[in-house]
Amino acid sequence: MSQAVDLTRDLLARRSVTPADEGCQELIARRLADIGFVIEHLPFGSVTNLWARRGGSGPVFCFAGHTDVVPTGPLEEWRSDPFVPAERDGVLYGRGAADMKSGLAAMVTAVEEFVVAYPAHSGSIAFLVTSDEEGPSVDGTRRVAEVLRSRGEHIDWCLVGEPSSEVSAGDTIKVGRRGSLSGRLTVHGIQGHIAYPQLAENPVHTLAPALAELVGRKWDAGTEHFQPTSFQVSNLAAGTGAPNVIPGELKVRFNLRYSPVQTLSKLKATVEEILHRHGVRYTLEWYVSGEPFYTAPGVLSGAVAAAVAEVTGVPPKLSTGGGTSDGRFIAPLGAQVVELGVVNASIHKVNECVRVADIDALQRMYVNVLRRLLVDTHPSERR
Ligand SMILES: [Zn+2]
Repeated sequence: MSQAVDLTRDLLARRSVTPADEGCQELIARRLADIGFVIEHLPFGSVTNLWARRGGSGPVFCFAGHTDVVPTGPLEEWRSDPFVPAERDGVLYGRGAADMKSGLAAMVTAVEEFVVAYPAHSGSIAFLVTSDEEGPSVDGTRRVAEVLRSRGEHIDWCLVGEPSSEVSAGDTIKVGRRGSLSGRLTVHGIQGHIAYPQLAENPVHTLAPALAELVGRKWDAGTEHFQPTSFQVSNLAAGTGAPNVIPGELKVRFNLRYSPVQTLSKLKATVEEILHRHGVRYTLEWYVSGEPFYTAPGVLSGAVAAAVAEVTGVPPKLSTGGGTSDGRFIAPLGAQVVELGVVNASIHKVNECVRVADIDALQRMYVNVLRRLLVDTHPSERR
């Protein structure tokens, strides 16, 4: 068994459901300390965070990831205990196998191999690991990024080990993510008898044309690297339950996934203008779960794409699809951010799994990335 697979199994055996870490970071920290990393544990509330750095000079290359996992879901639907790693037909099963304990193991073992081969590499290598990526994501990467910002510690390149691949390891890397803006809308009406609508105000009826416009609207055309912005209703409720009563209130929850061609203020203003124009009386609370980020093709994405192709023979597709990731907190530090990890088909599902061969392939890709950025590149080409 390779070191990367061995470490993946060690991490999988720990029941680190958000925000628990169950010693995963201690294990990673010990191994990094052994190869010259300076270790900092940065706990906030119930969240465990690790910042580790080897080297004092720039450029700084940072691996980022999370030790927490989502809950198992119905145990009876798992073919084996989700916290006892089990290999069947070359596939390793366990909660976190793909998202993203195999990624963490590949990073750690890649760095171990790299520093033996290139002990005098240029720049620095860092790790930013949290136990709150799957949870509220308040005391995790966001807080560590604040600490780094407050002491002026810079990250040039960040590789997030989230499972970015679709069918085979390295077929897709993420070079950005869309932003996510949610709204909690209450439409106010006047409750009344359904036979006397002139004495009531039906919030379902006042919202309907506004909602049709919001749903049918072409917000933008997207960009070469981003899908167009989309508006989706997730919840809608009105009615007292009685068939002869006009409801006095309607509640809607909706979400906008948006590309960097939009801004938060523009999106909010557009939604509010549409409601207003249709005469909707409302209260609206906004929630921002992440602003978009995008890393234009450059040194990092070029090195990662080439590192992947060295292993698979095929350059990866560059994507910005999927949900948000902790890259949204690291990109604002001025870092180029790329995500490269194993296949994401089973993440958050029962019987989460990863192909064993993909763990080793990912580990080789990570070694190649380090070599391309911290050994091969001429300093003047690094930005
Ligand atoms: Zn993840």
